[in-house]
Amino acid sequence: MLVYTLPGTFDTREAHLDLLWEAGATGLEERAGHIRAYFDEQTGLPQAVSDGEWTNEAEQDWQAEFKKNLKPVQAGRVTIVPPWLTGEVPAGQVPLVIEPGMAFGTGHHATTRMAVEALSALDLSGKRVMDVGTGSGVLAIAAALLGAELGYGVDIDPITVPIARENAEMNGVPAGRVRFEEGTLGEELPDDVTPDGLFDVLVANLYAELHDLLAGEYAAHLPGGGALVLTGILTSKLPLVRDALEREGFTDVTVREDGEWALVTATR
Ligand code: SAM
Repeated sequence: MLVYTLPGTFDTREAHLDLLWEAGATGLEERAGHIRAYFDEQTGLPQAVSDGEWTNEAEQDWQAEFKKNLKPVQAGRVTIVPPWLTGEVPAGQVPLVIEPGMAFGTGHHATTRMAVEALSALDLSGKRVMDVGTGSGVLAIAAALLGAELGYGVDIDPITVPIARENAEMNGVPAGRVRFEEGTLGEELPDDVTPDGLFDVLVANLYAELHDLLAGEYAAHLPGGGALVLTGILTSKLPLVRDALEREGFTDVTVREDGEWALVTATR
């Protein structure tokens, strides 16, 4: 990429901008007191703009750079990896492949990591797990890979649903063991998800105010003994979540913190 950099701003050199365009600039940018003019080839320039200098900057492939920096994320018994790092999953760990993309949930955020760790600490064999705010589907897929009979993910953002389904397919989760739908808690569940509307485990990576609003629904969807896993909670907002859980009759409340983020577990 050929760049001609000259001192000044669009304001101070307004009269010179047309000269750069006329000389063949394909784009102009103002950065830190300089004007950067992009050219396809080096060219002669009028005297008024001859105080700049040419540089040939290497094209940076941001996507390649981003991919290069992604590392596997170990969360309890699960290691979350992008598709090109499956070979880096340590022996004995459950691999969970997530394609980084438009939906939240690659495992690199503390809240996702803590939620997968919390799921991994439970015995999910034969359990039905609901994941509210599923994003990439990471938590519902983790549940299925950890033995759950069903990981059922819902999200109000419709773009997440096909992404979560693709991620599930990439992990080879057998049909029927995960399911993703657009929606939220409180809406009627499809009849064939769970006969009684109840789940054994409910996990939600949302935010404290929403947990407060949804706490009654969490209780309504968990039978006695059911496990609740909540994250997306700023540590400063923990009292709001604690109060909501107490109000709805949850017990055995535990809190884990990672930097400014908290994860709360409770039993119904
Ligand atoms: N579960 C993934 C994880 O743990 O990485 C993604 C969590 S992301 C922080 C929150 C997701 O919740 C987003 O995909 C957002 O669209 C969804 N969401 C926000 N409000 C919601 C609501 N009221 N009901 C269902 N999903 C919601």
